[in-house]
Amino acid sequence: MEQQRKLVTEIPGPRSRALWERRTRAVPAGVGTTLPIFVQRAQGGIVEDVDGNRLIDLGAGIAVVNVGHAHPAVVEAIATQAANFVHTCFQVTPYEGYVAVCEQLAARTPGSHEKRSLLVNSGAEAVENAVKIARSATGRPAVVAFDQAFHGRTLLALSLTAKVVPYKKSFGPYAPEVYRAPYSYPFRGTGGLAETIAWIEASVDVAEIACVVVEPIAGEGGFVVPEPGWYGGIAQWCRTNGVLFVADEVQTGFGRTGAWFASEHEDVVPDLVATAKGLGGGMPIAGVTGRADIMDAVHAGGLGSTFGGNPVSCAAALAAIDVIEKEGLVERARKLGDRMLERLVAMQRASSGIGDVRGRGAMVAIELVTDNGAPDADRAKRICAACHANGVIVLTAGTLGNVVRLLPPLVLDEGLLDEGLNVLEAAVRG
Ligand SMILES: *Cc1c(COP(=O)(O)O)cnc(C)c1O
Repeated sequence: MEQQRKLVTEIPGPRSRALWERRTRAVPAGVGTTLPIFVQRAQGGIVEDVDGNRLIDLGAGIAVVNVGHAHPAVVEAIATQAANFVHTCFQVTPYEGYVAVCEQLAARTPGSHEKRSLLVNSGAEAVENAVKIARSATGRPAVVAFDQAFHGRTLLALSLTAKVVPYKKSFGPYAPEVYRAPYSYPFRGTGGLAETIAWIEASVDVAEIACVVVEPIAGEGGFVVPEPGWYGGIAQWCRTNGVLFVADEVQTGFGRTGAWFASEHEDVVPDLVATAKGLGGGMPIAGVTGRADIMDAVHAGGLGSTFGGNPVSCAAALAAIDVIEKEGLVERARKLGDRMLERLVAMQRASSGIGDVRGRGAMVAIELVTDNGAPDADRAKRICAACHANGVIVLTAGTLGNVVRLLPPLVLDEGLLDEGLNVLEAAVRG
């Protein structure tokens, strides 16, 4: 498919609008939609809708298709595996692909210690299992999470997630023994390391804490990069206090930030790592990878999932990991990121209202503020809408909704990236 932006109707076009009518009668309103075009095909960095419009994708299905849409190697791996067998349930009769993915996770995640991995279906399920394992291994109940956190939408994961609207509103009561500490937010000047640690120590008996669950960069929370030393400082505090350090690398993993895992930027070796999004090259698969002694502390049969580590998803994951390696996508994330930051900083200088430009690798964002520095979620929405109307997929983020984030497929052609950024620039100018 030609890697080109092309608009042949208004966005959304008539066919998408007709499907939207059907959608509203079949799907509940609670399932949100960023951009109501219905997809026909997607390849590389382009999404084509049912009206024939081709959009530049700067969202990668929320950091999932790091290797690009429908990468040929991933598609072939899926087809080959599907022709052999689609499902057995690994807990009933195992297969090699599951083991091979766990070997890859052991090799790629930070630290050269002995590791084990559990495969599941989603980021939320990975986080839930990480907490189960941490509780079982430590015999402690409490979990510390942070402001800006997003860890998923199942009950325990949602209890760890910070943002109320839309994620938490009306869905309680939440799981007990979850304590929320300040996250480092340099632009807002809050959540320094000492403040965070003092807050934890004042709020919960440290001897009762099983684990701290933390994103190296707050993803849904607004691509907030903690101040240097904060993430590593939390990891150090955990080690000192016998608290397990669980890195939620669901959004930051698999090359996204210009390293295989964002923990590497702070030389942090987590006790447990949750992965999902980018792992499967577009297929649903997630993992919990951790120190062998912690992972093996759970009794036989205590962990599992009917579909977890599905054979087709495993084949896709192995192919995607191979593509990241062979196509140098970790370095490419840095290159794309440098270009995006450069352009965004230029936009910040030229227009008012961009309070902050931040990010790491191909995970960058702008935070919109009013003249007096208040969060400007309306402006973020308007900018996204203008990009969408002009054929560029961008996403909002932020606990206050005032962040526009860019997280393109790592294979995105530089010409397309620039074109996408031109559209964004025009949208920012208004
Ligand atoms: C998306 C996300 C999750 C949840 O993943 P799902 O697959 O949607 O359950 C958890 N943690 C982080 C950091 C995420 O970005």
